Amino acid sequence: MKIKYFAIFWLIIAVIFTFGCQQKNTDAPTAKITPKTLNYPIDNFKTGVVLKPFGIYITPKTSPVQPEKFKGYHTGADIEIPQNLSNADVPVYAISDCDVLASRTVSGYGGVIVLGCKINGNDYTVLYGHLDINSVLVKVGDSVKSGQKLAILGRGYSQETSNERKHLHFSMKIGLGNKTGIDFRGYVQSESELKVWIDPVKFFENQ
Ligand SMILES: [Zn+2]
Repeated sequence: MKIKYFAIFWLIIAVIFTFGCQQKNTDAPTAKITPKTLNYPIDNFKTGVVLKPFGIYITPKTSPVQPEKFKGYHTGADIEIPQNLSNADVPVYAISDCDVLASRTVSGYGGVIVLGCKINGNDYTVLYGHLDINSVLVKVGDSVKSGQKLAILGRGYSQETSNERKHLHFSMKIGLGNKTGIDFRGYVQSESELKVWIDPVKFFENQ
């Protein structure tokens, strides 16, 4: 009898050990196989944020861009264009596989495209401002692929950019808007309002 109990004891140990190992094996690979599908929204994204980074508080007096018509906390990052490209077509691209939520002109931006993107399981409302609206290659309801060309930047100091210099205002807001409820604001008036936007430069650095 003693031998039988001894055998059962070791059988239980063996089952626990085997089950434990299988648990570890099924958990481990999932984190490693997450595909890297992000693309920068514009070619010089890594070097172009030099005047208005995400979250900077500006007034017409303190802004690094003069003259300035805005006041508040910047909800996006502004990507400046190298001088040799000031008259060139500068394309912007989908940062991930996303849906087009808006494509229209908005006061303060000129042409705007807004994408709804699910990245690593989280939803983001991704806004591209100061685009040439006549160059837009997508329409509301389209699904776009990561890296797909969306449009080109508007001409500086024209209606295409709402009379701003040629640059890309790029923002990522946590969660999805919808067709009637998209938040287009480029500036908010309090730090607490800013909390639903993230710093897109840091976001890409952490990928
Ligand atoms: Zn901006």
